[in-house]
Parts: sequence; structure tokens; C-alpha cells
Amino acid sequence: MLGRSRLRIPEPGELSRGQAVVAWRFWGVGESDDGEYRLQSPFRATVWEPGTPFAATCLSPQLTLGPLRHRHQAPDPGCRCGVYGGTYRELRTFLYSNLVRPSSTPVLGRVSIWGVVLEDESSSWRGSFGYPERLLVPTLLRNAFRVARDLEAYGVPVTMLDLQDMFSALHPAGRPGLTVR
Ligand SMILES: [Zn+2]
Repeated sequence: MLGRSRLRIPEPGELSRGQAVVAWRFWGVGESDDGEYRLQSPFRATVWEPGTPFAATCLSPQLTLGPLRHRHQAPDPGCRCGVYGGTYRELRTFLYSNLVRPSSTPVLGRVSIWGVVLEDESSSWRGSFGYPERLLVPTLLRNAFRVARDLEAYGVPVTMLDLQDMFSALHPAGRPGLTVR
């Protein structure tokens, strides 16, 4: 699953924000202290703040299974840390096999990834920094319209995705409801 990783840009090069890789991913949403919906990393509930690049950190004691159990900057080739993004096909396949109930519906979208960017063999990327590039809010999501309104705080295009679009976008045999690449 982890696979080997290679540096996309030879050391000491890093991608600037203007050179960012743009990839598909999904986010969870949660309410902030002041009652606004915000993006979260799906498996950690770490908040992505509007207007601020999300900086990846490593939780290597929990995440690293191999011998590379040392502190490092995220991402690290021997670890799983970093801001994730992948191809549309990967996102679709993952969601199709993991979406079991509407309450688990995530916000879909594209993310810019920059800094040190590693490309995994499965053509997904892990990088130091990330920021949403566009967001798609499924109407299946609880309070979807409020979520979409609040997510406009990120300053990127926010689009509602109705049930049919969602199905078409995610079903492998379905008619693509979105521009894919
Ligand atoms: Zn790590």
C-alpha cells in the first residue's frame, strides 16, 4: 500500500506555491468554535484554516510501521505523512469502496500541493503544504447549503453536487458528471 516514493524535484529543490501540483482529494467538515463549517483532514479532524496554507506534520510514532521511526519533516519517503492528493480515478475508486452511508459523505475537491512533493507509485502525491483549489459540496451532506456558504471563506470556487451528479461522478460505470483528467 505504501509503495516506494521518489522525490518529484531533486533535492534541494522544492515546488513553490506557484508550481504546485493540483490533485483530487476529499475533506471532512466540522464546526469551528464560532459555529462556522471548516475543512478538516479526513482521518485526523485537523482543521484547515481559511486563507492559511495547511502545513503537514508527521505523527510518525502512530503512523510509521517500518524502521524509519524517526522525527522528520513531512512528507518523508519512508512514512505516510504529508498533504495528500491523487488522480480523479483514484479518488473515485477510493470513495466508491469506502462511502457506506450519506452521513460519511465528504467534501470533494482539488488541492494545490507544494513544498517537498513526493509522488507515490500509485500516482498520488504527498507534500509539505496544501490549500484547496476548488470544492464540491454534495447535497447529501447534512446542512449542505450552510456548509457550502461557510466554505466560501477559503476564497476558491465552491460548487454544490446533487445526488445524481455525485453518483455519476463516483460510479465507475456512470456518466462522468465532472471534468476528469
Ligand atoms: Zn512521517
